[in-house]
Amino acid sequence: MNLKVIFTLTIFLCFSHLSAQEFSPQVERFISSNDNDFAITNVTLIDGTGSETKTNQTIIIKNKKIEAVGNTKTIKIPEGIKVIDGTNKTVIPGLVMLHEHMFYTKPFENWFSVGQMTFTFPRLYLAGGVTTMRTGGSIQPQTDLNVMKWINEGKMTGPKMFVTGPFIEREGPKVPELGFINNAEEVGFLVNYWADKGVTSFKVYNNITREDLEICVTEAHKRGLKVTGHLCSLTYAEASEIGIDNLEHGFMASSDFSTDKAEDLCDPYSARRGLANEDVNGKNINALIDLLIKNKTVITTTPNVFEPYTDREIVPGGGFDALIPQIQERLKSNHERSQGRDANSLALFNKNLTWVKRFYDKGGVLVAGTDPTGAGRTVAGYANQRTVEILVEAGFTVEEAIKVCTLNGATFLDINNNTGSLEVGKTADLILINGNLNTNIKDIRNMEIVFKDGIGFDSKALFESVKGKVGLN
Ligand SMILES: [Zn+2]
Repeated sequence: MNLKVIFTLTIFLCFSHLSAQEFSPQVERFISSNDNDFAITNVTLIDGTGSETKTNQTIIIKNKKIEAVGNTKTIKIPEGIKVIDGTNKTVIPGLVMLHEHMFYTKPFENWFSVGQMTFTFPRLYLAGGVTTMRTGGSIQPQTDLNVMKWINEGKMTGPKMFVTGPFIEREGPKVPELGFINNAEEVGFLVNYWADKGVTSFKVYNNITREDLEICVTEAHKRGLKVTGHLCSLTYAEASEIGIDNLEHGFMASSDFSTDKAEDLCDPYSARRGLANEDVNGKNINALIDLLIKNKTVITTTPNVFEPYTDREIVPGGGFDALIPQIQERLKSNHERSQGRDANSLALFNKNLTWVKRFYDKGGVLVAGTDPTGAGRTVAGYANQRTVEILVEAGFTVEEAIKVCTLNGATFLDINNNTGSLEVGKTADLILINGNLNTNIKDIRNMEIVFKDGIGFDSKALFESVKGKVGLN
């Protein structure tokens, strides 16, 4: 071989290495657009930063990155690239949501139990516009890590993932999928073991002690990783002062208002009474909000999992058909039985959202997630879209709701230089929606193409591919 051939061959190998990612046939069949360069024209654009919606916009993607965004009249489209006409459509950033799970409610008799949804959930998340997610605790961390890896390698279909380790919990709730620690020393072992395996955050649960959390925060922070919690035995104020990064479920898991709280012990009934008794404008809630903001403790709102029954969808967001028939039956009869009997849940649901909005308005960092557990009415993908709707119903502007579900999540994960908003230089994580969210927020259910790193996935085909399968796989 002469030098010239070697040179040419080297160039070829370099470029073939850099060329488009390869996908397995199982992934390929959902890809509806795979051009390095393309433009979406005449589109309504919500950029994820909270800025006002702009109409008649053009967005140009080059090498799968956002090259330019601006008014259609002034943006010059490079010759020869694919043009998608966005007339009557809206573009938003890909959702970045932070309380996701790879498992779903699977009760048995009187037991609460959850089952791993290895195949259906990653597809559903992507179908519902989620381009990046953090799981909010895992029951099969090794499975979640494999799925994450195989998605990155183009062998499975789903969003970019940040995996949270197995729940850090002491024995309390009889949920068989939870692992229980017996002493605080185990926390440090768990954090470091799973961090070595590739987990990037940790979740403490209902029955931990202050010492458990102290060790968890210290060990995780040493490695640059974050800790979140679904609390009960610790108050939000205690956890925030210890240095937890994030608290889950808005204020629904707060035991701060309990009047007979024993240290390090969870009494869910007392906690719930405290929440019910705290006035919507109460001194305690306002002081708590101020403390969390001062300590920069991030709140994740998960309204979908608390959605009341009366006059609402069986599966909010429209995911009923995704379920296996046995689960459909159970949910349907629960739903019928609960009509008109959930006034207390409704009151708490509304109060929590008012507090969450107040936290946001006062400058608190709010992120969002779905938590596909509870009674089983929260189904991945559908629930992510529904979360945006609920935030708008609760008084957030459309732009604010999108920001909470995109840029704020990306900022928390420290990936906001690359994703979370439609700004020049970021990767092309974006969603093309048929309709106008400012006229009808439910148009968010009409996603057409979900672009993840510039690769366009067919939302409807993804949803369709797992219909009738959630609960089994
Ligand atoms: Zn959860």
